[in-house]
Amino acid sequence: MDLGLKDKVIIVTGGAKGIGEAIAKLVAAEGGITVIAGRNAADNEKTVAAIQSSGGRAFAIQAELGQVADCRKVIDTTVQQFGTIHALVNNAGVNDGVGLENGDPEKFMASLQKNLSHYYNLAHYALPYLKANKGNIVNIGSKVATTGQGNTSGYAASKGAINALTREWAVELLPYSVRVNTVIPAEVWTPLYETWINSLPNPKEKLAAIVSKIPLEQRMTTSEEIAAMTVFLLSAQSSHTTGQIVYVDGGYTHLDRSI
Ligand code: NAP
Repeated sequence: MDLGLKDKVIIVTGGAKGIGEAIAKLVAAEGGITVIAGRNAADNEKTVAAIQSSGGRAFAIQAELGQVADCRKVIDTTVQQFGTIHALVNNAGVNDGVGLENGDPEKFMASLQKNLSHYYNLAHYALPYLKANKGNIVNIGSKVATTGQGNTSGYAASKGAINALTREWAVELLPYSVRVNTVIPAEVWTPLYETWINSLPNPKEKLAAIVSKIPLEQRMTTSEEIAAMTVFLLSAQSSHTTGQIVYVDGGYTHLDRSI
């Protein structure tokens, strides 16, 4: 199947690590030009070098996406470098544990800034180019928007809003044939996941308990499995799919976990 991604300029936020890294690598393996936007220049360059050493094309932009000016910089630099943008993968986020009881109003707003605002800001600034190309947006959400997790109000609110914006943007952008979809992971072993599980009491036991409840094969989803769905949704092969929230989670969110 030809995904039609050859020479397409695709921004992947948080593309240096974890799920974003897998997406960045798969986009490049399909012939696309991956633009990695993330806060740590050394991490970005490491992934760019790995892609280039496998014969792919990639470019890095250092950006703290919680800053509006950095979101603008990501779009402007990409256009200066490559002339256009075909697609945006909004992926960067952090499960930062700002709860109802343990948080406060400032921390809650800061969590929205880290997890939600840049999804809007980048889509807003990229829109003229996406319209010109009949391009598309793929957001990475979280099962937390559906299931809750406890002690993570800012992250949960952000991920819930991302699901809502997927439908909202899909409708607003129908006249331009710009598609918008979201991929939902549940349990994927990444640097973020490792930090989160280690923040809990008895992390080893907790991890074993979680994995035992994943219906399909009692194993975690891989970053590559999230990337495969993301790249399919980016591609011309999903040309009539928009406004969809796709769970790539081994059935964790919706199947009966008592089986
Ligand atoms: P990760 O391992 O922490 O990788 C995320 C990358 O994005 C890191 O390079 C990180 O930089 C960067 N980043 C995060 N926030 C940023 C910001 N504000 N500005 C610039 N760069 C930023 O995370 P992941 O597990 O791959 O998660 C990716 C996405 O999947 C997130 O949206 C997350 O909510 C979602 N998700 C993951 C899971 C899971 O099981 N892993 C489950 C559900 C949803 P630093 O390393 O410097 O922080």
